[in-house]
Amino acid sequence: LIVLDKVCKSFGSHEVLHDIDLTVDRGEVVVVIGPSGSGKSTLCRCINRMEVASSGSITLDGVPLPQEGRALARLRAQVGMVFQSFNLFSHRNVLDNVTLAPIKVRGIPRKQAEATARELLDRVGIGDKADQLPAQLSGGQQQRAAIARALAMEPKVMLFDEPTSALDPEMINEVLDVMRELAASGMTMVVVTHEMGFARTVANRVVFMDGGRIVETAPPEEFFANPKSERARDFLGKVL
Ligand code: ATP
Ligand code: MG
Repeated sequence: LIVLDKVCKSFGSHEVLHDIDLTVDRGEVVVVIGPSGSGKSTLCRCINRMEVASSGSITLDGVPLPQEGRALARLRAQVGMVFQSFNLFSHRNVLDNVTLAPIKVRGIPRKQAEATARELLDRVGIGDKADQLPAQLSGGQQQRAAIARALAMEPKVMLFDEPTSALDPEMINEVLDVMRELAASGMTMVVVTHEMGFARTVANRVVFMDGGRIVETAPPEEFFANPKSERARDFLGKVL
């Protein structure tokens, strides 16, 4: 579904991604782990084209990422993104947060967008919060609203960049449970996380990055039991 071929990304003279080759199949859950600064966020941002790769190619469903304009807006709709900071519109209620883009970008009639939004809010367990402002929700509830908002665009793939890192421990699981359910429903997902339990139990594949390179990629049972590289062993020693 997503194919990255020799993707490089530099900021000025600083090369942050080096020759990234990565294929994500439909329905696959790929968990990306690695130390701070290894390029995980930049990789996600290149996939939804918030950043433009300096060289190499990225295709979604066989189509190169569009450069600009309407095609780019459509691409963004197909690639849902959930960030560490929830990025909800703070002056809009939860329902509006979920319906704005479907109405504006996809041209869905308001009634239909609202019906879909209420279903999605139920699905992520905050059906009773539709009329509240983001600030009236807990962090875990805000993150679940952000997931519902991304799902409302019917994306082909969901990218999660440390979705639970800003949450208090008791809220982490409620968000991970929503992500588990999403994975079980067959959604294609790329997840940057430090939650090794999630990686172990949900990932089809773990990608370990360090210094802007993919150092190792393996099924979780193999990766956690027997990391091949020194750097992965080192990293796991620190986080597990
Ligand atoms: P973390 O675990 O801390 O989130 P990360 O693996 O997500 O780290 P990135 O955020 O992708 O790492 O950053 C990789 C490198 O790219 C870092 O050295 C960072 O300073 C640099 N970088 C990221 N964005 C920019 C930018 N817009 N301009 C310049 N340098 C950047
Ligand atoms: Mg990051």
